[in-house]
Parts: sequence; C-alpha cells; structure tokens
Amino acid sequence: MDSFIFKGLPTRVIFGRGKLAVLGHEVERLGLTRVAVLTTPQQRATGQEIAGQLGPVLCAGHLDTATMHTPLEVTEDALAWCREHRVDGLVPVGGGSTVGLSKALSLRTWLPQICVPTTYAGSEMTDILGQTIDGKKQTQRGPEIQPQVAIYDPDLTDTMPIPLSITSGFNAIAHAIEALYAVDANPIIEYIATEGIRKLVGAMSELEGPNSRAARDEALQGAWFCGVSLGSCAMALHHKLAHVLGGSFNLPHAESHTALLPFSIAYNEPALNGQLDTARHALRTDNLAQAIFDLAKTLGAPTSLAEVGMPADGIDAATEIAISQPYSNPRPLSREGIRALLDDAYHGRRPS
Ligand code: NAD
Repeated sequence: MDSFIFKGLPTRVIFGRGKLAVLGHEVERLGLTRVAVLTTPQQRATGQEIAGQLGPVLCAGHLDTATMHTPLEVTEDALAWCREHRVDGLVPVGGGSTVGLSKALSLRTWLPQICVPTTYAGSEMTDILGQTIDGKKQTQRGPEIQPQVAIYDPDLTDTMPIPLSITSGFNAIAHAIEALYAVDANPIIEYIATEGIRKLVGAMSELEGPNSRAARDEALQGAWFCGVSLGSCAMALHHKLAHVLGGSFNLPHAESHTALLPFSIAYNEPALNGQLDTARHALRTDNLAQAIFDLAKTLGAPTSLAEVGMPADGIDAATEIAISQPYSNPRPLSREGIRALLDDAYHGRRPS
C-alpha cells in the first residue's frame, strides 16, 4: 500500500432530527453571548425564528444578506454590521452561500462558527473559502475558516426544493469523487467518500414519496461524509472549473457542479489507476461518467452548461482562467483538453 497522511478535521458534529434544539447549549458551551444568525434573504423567516429562540441573552441579531459565491462587498457590509453589533460568534443557517459568508467573516475576525446546514453543499466541514473579488472566485484554506461546530438537523432540509436537493446532492458527490483521486487521498477518506456517494445516490431518487423522511436523513449524512472528504483533500480540475464558472459567469453553484461532473470524470479517467473503482461499485456501473450523466437526466437535473446559463462565448475565457494557475490533477491540464471538456459540457453531449 502507498504511504499516506491523514489529518482529522476538528469540527464537532451533532446529527439528528430535532437537534437544532441544542443550538443555545452549543452557543453557551463556547462561552458566546452575542452571536449573529446569518441567512440568505430567502431564508429570512427561518433566521428570524432561530434568532428569536436564542433570545437577547445569546443573540445580537439576524443578518440576511448571504449571497451565492460570497461577493467581497457583501462580506464588507456584514463585517461592519458585526462590529456595530459587537458580535462574538456566527451562526450561519443555510446552504453553502450562508456558510460562505460566515467563513469570510471568520477569516477576518477569527469569530467562532456554529453552522446549521440546510443543503448538501458540505462547506461546514471544510477549511475552504471561495470569495468573489473583481469577478473572479478566489479560493483559500486556513484554520480560521474551519467551523467549530456543525448541527445537522434533517428537519431543516425537508423544505429544500427537490431540484436544489438533487443538484446539491451532485455537488456533494463531486466532493467525494475529487477526494478519491486527490493527490493526498488516503484509505479513511476513500471509505468516507465512497460511503457518502452510496448514501446520496441511494437517497436522491427517494426524496419525494413515502420514504422521503428516511431519504432526507440518509442524504444529509451522505452530504456530511462528502464534505469531510472535500475538507480533507486537495481539490482538482472539477472544483477549479466550478469556481471559474461561478465567479466569472455567476452560474448557480450546485447546478454547475451537476452539469460538469460527468465531463470532469471523463477527462481524468485515462490518467486514473483504479481510484474511482469504489465509486463505480457504489453506482453499479463500468462507466462512471456515463452513469452520473444518466442519473442526472433521470432525476431531471441539468446535464449541460447551456441549461444553467453559461454563455457560449464564455468557453474560451473559462479555459484560460482554468489553465492560468497550476494545481494538482490526475491528468495533466492542457488548453485543448479543457476546452473540449467545456465544449462537451456546454452542449451536454453524453460522455463516450
Ligand atoms: P445556497 O446556499 O446558495 O442555497 C440556494 C438557495 O436555496 C438559497 O436561496 C437558500 O436560501 C435556499 N435554501 C437553502 N436551503 C434551503 C432549505 N432547506 N429550504 C429552502 N430553501 C433553502 O446554495 P448551495 O449550493 O448550498 O451553496 C452554494 C455556495 O456554497 C457557493 O457559493 C459555493 O462556492 C459554496 N460552497 C463552498 C464550499 C466550501 O467548502 N467552501 C463547499 C460547497 C459549496
């Protein structure tokens, strides 16, 4: 067996239906008395309710400005708000956008974070922050970004619309896939990533119907596992492309991941040596790229970048940005290869 390094992530995880009830206890456990509850405008009512439950003894207020791709201007306004309200901790309640705002604030202040995720994005399990500055998404990692606590309460995911649930599930699967072939992959993460994929693939077709409650529980656990996988390993071409598309063209994050994933897999396959075998096994397929593409189609998710709003004339610009900085990837990056990948993904051609 190859040698490896494994570092466990320090985030405390509380999982279970109804567990939002322990939020106040977790705030007190960290010695906080003036936390800010963060949400998007769309989840304002949820944020107000949670801030009200914490009450004035623990909560300084609710801020509902979280925005996808974490634009710098939003962070700067939120930072001023936090200073004005003498905030001593952050409670993001929402998907990756809300956790992203929290992380961007923590990067600048080291404020502790208690995350309450409501999608399958998995950001609460990583030390990664992507911020959009001057139209480009810049990614960085660091201990000040890693949240202290994550409360996974599937009750909060019951309201997630099915289309977002599906694409968010693919976003999570993409984390696990890239961890399997990461330059710093290791046996623990291989196990966790594969199990995350298995749970999500099993749950995604059951999110509606009689088994929806159990499927939501399973999907959120899968998302946690996939988030751990992303947080423990280096990202490669797939995440790089998703960030380029999000930051430069403001494409929706989970949908972009869904449309791109089969093509990133197909690009890297020739350079792999069994790293995706466990994922193939989880999907019961010999051709993972096709299986992911077909699953997305069956579940009604977007399978082309055109569908998610990518401009046709953006392919060249995206190729240049993706190739401009070096990063680890199983298959060497070539301009022609990435352009062809993006062209196939734009048109949604089933990977061959
Ligand atoms: P999102 O957080 O933008 O949520 C999409 C919309 O759905 C929002 O309006 C949100 O309020 C709403 N929503 C979320 N949960 C809901 C629920 N349970 N019920 C009803 N509405 C709900 O989308 P996302 O895909 O979770 O996050 C995307 C962002 O996360 C991107 O900016 C991406 O870069 C970032 N991200 C970061 C990491 C990381 O490790 N740094 C990982 C994954 C994603």
